[in-house]
Amino acid sequence: MPDKLTDLIEELALANRILAHEGVLDAFGHVSLRHPADPGRYLLSRSRSPLLIEPDDILEYTLDSEPVRPPKVQLYAERVIHGCIYRARPDVMAVCHHHAPAVMPFAIAGKPIVPVFHLGAAGGANMPFWDQYAEFGDTNLLVVKPEEGRSLARALGQHPAILMNRHGATVVGGGLRELVSRSIFMCQNADYQLRALTLGTPEPLHAGEVKLASTLNALPNVVNRTWEYWSMRLEAAGAMPPRKSSAKAARRPVPKPSRVTPRERRKGRRR
Ligand SMILES: [Zn+2]
Repeated sequence: MPDKLTDLIEELALANRILAHEGVLDAFGHVSLRHPADPGRYLLSRSRSPLLIEPDDILEYTLDSEPVRPPKVQLYAERVIHGCIYRARPDVMAVCHHHAPAVMPFAIAGKPIVPVFHLGAAGGANMPFWDQYAEFGDTNLLVVKPEEGRSLARALGQHPAILMNRHGATVVGGGLRELVSRSIFMCQNADYQLRALTLGTPEPLHAGEVKLASTLNALPNVVNRTWEYWSMRLEAAGAMPPRKSSAKAARRPVPKPSRVTPRERRKGRRR
């Protein structure tokens, strides 16, 4: 398990950077992963912009969104989003919260994002909205209190994504690669939907098409293919995360003992 956990932590750092490089995350927003060995915990970075996240930034949290070990670093204010969704949705293994420019017009206008092309089906049909003001009145719009996180999780229900009025969106996945794929294609779909509106009234996918296309989009060979593509683009930009320092140490070859000549050995004895 330690090796698997190390690999997953490295993937989580990579997921943050991919989503930042593809325009879903910017200075803000975050991605988490349910702990592979303990469903009552999750992994999330310390407070840092996603494009800069390294495996050593990843911390472990309980589902109350409290760090398992006392933190020496600043934590994300909105981490209750993650803990509350993992508690409400046992099927969810990864969560992304973002304020992507592609979805903001819909979150601001209160207009639904509907699947308008096959890959956009990953966002699901009938994407719900959550309005923090409607339940909590004046806030700074950050989801920081447990009751706010629980309310958001309730509104998400069994959907793969939710729009947050005047704030952004939260997306969930059955795995990290599925989540990354869904988050990126949801933004592409929103972009295409808005552009298509300038030409006419786009006809969304039919309910049966959404079901069939979203199943196809989640297949391992599909999400592995997109993951490889987005990783290659990140690597070409020179923005790949470093390996986890403990893993680097473990993988470092054991230095061979330096060869001591018979003469040096005799000199050593005299000392
Ligand atoms: Zn936010």
